[in-house]
Amino acid sequence: MPRERLYLFDTTLRDGAQTNGVDFTLADKLAIARMLDELGVDYVEAGYPGANPIDTAFFAERRPLKGKITAFGMTRRPGRSASNDPGLAALLAAEADAICFVAKSWDYHVRVALETSEEENLASIRDSVAAAKAKGREVLLDCEHFFDGYKANPDYALACAKAAYDAGARWVVLCDTNGGTLPHEVEKIVGEVCRHIPGDHTGIHAHNDTEQAVANSFAAVRAGARQIQGTLNGLGERCGNANLISIIPTLKLKREYAERFEIGVADAALGHIARVSRALDDLLNRAADRHAPYVGESAFATKAGIHASAIMKEPATYEHVAPERVGNKRKLLVSDQSGRSNLLAELERIGFAIDKDDPRLSRLLDAVKEREAQGYAYESADASFELLARRLLGKVPRYFEVEKFDVNVEQRINAKGERVSVSLAVVKVKVGDDALISAAEGNGPVNALDLALRKDLGKYQSYIAGLELTDYRVRILNGGTQAVTRVLIESADEEGDRWTTVGVSANIIDASFQALMDSIVYKLVKAGAPA
Ligand SMILES: [Zn+2]
Repeated sequence: MPRERLYLFDTTLRDGAQTNGVDFTLADKLAIARMLDELGVDYVEAGYPGANPIDTAFFAERRPLKGKITAFGMTRRPGRSASNDPGLAALLAAEADAICFVAKSWDYHVRVALETSEEENLASIRDSVAAAKAKGREVLLDCEHFFDGYKANPDYALACAKAAYDAGARWVVLCDTNGGTLPHEVEKIVGEVCRHIPGDHTGIHAHNDTEQAVANSFAAVRAGARQIQGTLNGLGERCGNANLISIIPTLKLKREYAERFEIGVADAALGHIARVSRALDDLLNRAADRHAPYVGESAFATKAGIHASAIMKEPATYEHVAPERVGNKRKLLVSDQSGRSNLLAELERIGFAIDKDDPRLSRLLDAVKEREAQGYAYESADASFELLARRLLGKVPRYFEVEKFDVNVEQRINAKGERVSVSLAVVKVKVGDDALISAAEGNGPVNALDLALRKDLGKYQSYIAGLELTDYRVRILNGGTQAVTRVLIESADEEGDRWTTVGVSANIIDASFQALMDSIVYKLVKAGAPA
C-alpha cells in the first residue's frame, strides 16, 4: 500500500529562538539549518526578516538548502493595503522558498489585540496570501490561538483558515499557541477542520505547556493533518514546542505511523538523530537531558541485575526500539545494586571477555560496592567504571604521575575598584623521566587546575588536544561538617565521544582532581597512547 507523505516543518530558528537564554548568531543559525537539512526536514523556518539584524542577514542571500527555507512574518496590517506595508514588503523581499504568515483566528484577539473588525482580519489574510503567491512563494498561514478561537467561535476560526486556503495557501497551520489544549480536543477539532480543508493542506503547531505537545501533534495527524511543526529538542518559549527529536523516531519506528506515512528523514539520518540532538545542546552550551526519549544517555539504560541478563540474551525483551536505530547505545548500569550479570555484560560491552567464575569478577564487584558506599556513582560515571575495571585487570599503564599540585584563590580589588577573585594552579607532573611544571589561571580553582593539568603532558599532549570538559556537577552527599563532595565531570573529544568520570572527597578540589585525572587517563586509553 502506498504510504501518505507527511511533512516536517522545523521552527527551531524562529519559535525556538524565543527560548529564554537562547541567542543565535548568524553562524549558529546557518549551522543549525545545515543540521536540519542533513536530517531531512521539509521546511526550515529560519526567522523573521526585518525583525532583527541577524534574521534580516539570514534572508539577505540565497542559502543553499534542500529543505524549503521559510520566512516568518505578519499578514498586512489592518487598514493598509498589501503594497503599502513595510513589514510585508520585507517579508516578500526575503530570499526564501516559502512564507509563513501568522494571523489571528480568535475573534476575541481580533477585537482586543488587533483592534480591528473580523472582516478586515479576513481581508488581511486573503491579501497577504495573494501577495506572497504573486511573488512565487509557497505560502503557509499559522492560525494563532486556533484551538481557543475555535472553542470560542468555531465559525470565525474556520473562516480565517478557509480564507487562507481559498486564497491559495499551501498549508493552513492550526496553532495551539498557549499550549493548553489537550490531545482529545486537538483530535476532535482537527477532525472537524479537515472536513472543510483537506488534511494534506493542514498542519499542527503545538506547544508543550501541558507536556503533551508531541501527543497533540500525533492526535492531529490521526485526525488528518499532514504537516507537523516542531523544534529540535523541543526548544521554545515557556515549556517549549513539540519536540521533533521525539516525533521523528516515533514516525519512523512505530508501526502505526511507519506503515501509513512516509517522511523526508531517511533511515541513515535517523541513525544520527542522537548526535543532532547533542549538537544542538553543545551549540547552546547546555548539558544534554539524560532522560530524553530515544536520544538521552539513559534512554536505553538498565540497572537491575535480572533485567540485565535478559537484555543481553534478547534485547527486544526490554527495549521498545533498538537503540542503534536512533544512534544511541544500550547501557547497563553498574551500581551497588547490580549483580554479576550486569557487570559481566558491561565488561563485555567495553571489550573484556572474562569468565563468570573468574575471581577478579568478585573483586571488581566488591570494589564497586565499597566505593559506591563512599559516594562514587559508577552508574553515572561510565569512564571511571571502565578505568576501575581495567586497573583491576592490570590494563591501565602509568602514563604520568602528578607529583604535587597547588591551587590558590585570591580575592582582591582591581584597578576599577571591583572585587574580583582569581585562581592560580601550579601542577608538577612526571612523564617518564621528564619533570614538567605548568601553571594556569582560571575563573575558579577547578578551572585553573584543569587548565594547568592539561597544559603540558609532554609526549601525551597531542592525545589530549581535542579533550574538552562539557559539564561539571557537584553534589554534597551528607550534611554537617563530615560532608563528602561528589564531582561528576563530563568530557567530550574531537570524535564526538562523551564520557563521565567521578571523584569523591571531603575536599571539593581533591574530588575534582580525581575526576579530571580519570578523564585524561580515559582519553589516553581510548586513544591507544603508548605506555
Ligand atoms: Zn509557537
